[in-house]
This record gives sequence, C-alpha cells and structure tokens, in this order.
Amino acid sequence: MAGKILIIFDFDRTLIEEDSDRWVLTNMGLTNLFYQLQSTLPWNSLMDSMLEEIHLQGKTVNDIEECLQQVPLHTRIVEVTKTAHALGCDLKVVSDSNAFYIRTILEHYGIYNCFSEIITNPIVVEDRGRLRIFPYNDMDSPHSCDLCPPNLCKGGVIERIQSSISESERKRLIYVGDGRNDFCPTLKLDAGDFVMPRMNFPLFDRILNNRALVKAKVHEWSNWEELATILHELINYISNEEEVECRTANQLNSVEYNNEAPGSTNEPLTVVTD
Ligand SMILES: [Mg+2]
Ligand SMILES: [Zn+2]
Repeated sequence: MAGKILIIFDFDRTLIEEDSDRWVLTNMGLTNLFYQLQSTLPWNSLMDSMLEEIHLQGKTVNDIEECLQQVPLHTRIVEVTKTAHALGCDLKVVSDSNAFYIRTILEHYGIYNCFSEIITNPIVVEDRGRLRIFPYNDMDSPHSCDLCPPNLCKGGVIERIQSSISESERKRLIYVGDGRNDFCPTLKLDAGDFVMPRMNFPLFDRILNNRALVKAKVHEWSNWEELATILHELINYISNEEEVECRTANQLNSVEYNNEAPGSTNEPLTVVTD
C-alpha cells in the first residue's frame, strides 16, 4: 500500500542540514565576492558567476564535488529514504539548488537511486571544465505565481505531478520543506495529504499565519530524528488507511456480486403452466 504514497522533499535545510549553494561559497572562500555581487544579480545568475570565479581560481569540478561530499546529511534521513523506497513509496526532490549539487550529495550518501525524479535547475559541464547553472524557468517566459521567486514555482511543479497521475493511480502526498518557496506547493495539497514544515522556519510561520488556506494535515519537525520518525509513522498510517479502504471496497464488490448472484446464471426462468 506504500505504493500509493508520494513523498516530495525540498533539498536545502530539509534533506541536508545546510544550504548547498552557501556551503560551496563558504568552503571555497567566495563569501566576500558573494556579498559584493548579491544585490546586483538574480540568485541563479549570481551562483553561475560564483562558479565562473571558482573556475578562474583554478578549481576543478572534482574540487567542487569533494567540497559537496562534506555536506552533512543525517543518518536517519539515509535510513528513512531507503526504507520508504524499499516499501514502494515514490520519492522526489523539488529544489532551487541544482542538479549537480543534489546528485553529488545524494550519491555520496548512497540514496540517489531512491528518488524517481530531481526537479531543479539544470547544469552543464563545459569542455574547459567549468560548471554552468541554468535557470529552471526560462527568464524570458517567467511563471505568473506571485508567491514564488521568479526562477521556480514549486506549486506549479506539484500541479504538474498531480495532473500526470490518473485517478485510479491516485497517490497520497507528503511534502517536506522549510523555506518561503515551500508555501506555494503546500497550498496545492489536498485534505488527504500531509505537509511537514521545519519548525520555526519560514514555511512553518507562513502556515501558522494562513492556517485556513492549508487543506493538508500539518506535522512539524524540529530535527532530522523527528522528521524520520514522523515520516515512518505517516507511511504506516497511510498504508493502513489505504488497506482498510481497499478491503472495504473489496467487501462492497463482493456484496454487489452476491446481490446479483440469483439472476447471474442467465438461465431462462422455467414457467410452470397448468
Ligand atoms: Mg529549503
Ligand atoms: Zn508558486
């Protein structure tokens, strides 16, 4: 029954304990340049400029890879993603980081293959060995959502995922996040879904201030032990609920069958005449 569960994770400060962009900047000594350019460029272009600087300093893609492999990711997250995947849950990441950072970190912890999809900013490694980040949304045709930053509307991503699943394959959704840009996807969840905001982070505050707008059930978490425990419990809870629903549906079907049974032989009625 866990096959009916779709878990969507934000990445920075949700799956991993840090912000991957800032981790690279800090550990590659680019904090000062970052602050100088911060107000002049949109986030994505700024990150791309930082990668150009890293390249100009003679650091390779391997150096960036090694830097990312130091990002902390809690052992309980490794354990719960492996278990959820083994139980048949569908796992995805929706993030405004980028494909290279996410893949490198998840591969390092041996859980990349637990995820069916990573929805994020694409990257290219140029021939000269320089990593380039491209925006998820083409800047010439931005999305129209005013809740989200210009580059990525995560709510739009959730809607696309929901509409790609047929009614008979309907899944219960669990969304895990921390940031302001995790509020829009939260609003797309249905009453049977769950949202897990990180306690006292922007998503949590936005939910508290707009409680009436959120249809999904809210389960906040404050550390990765707690996140893993709640996820386990929700997977069990939803699986049991779906099993009961399935059993009830089967019972109803057999009642209908029994009701039909007397006339179901299609044998002509014998008419007794004098
Ligand atoms: Mg985040
Ligand atoms: Zn949005």
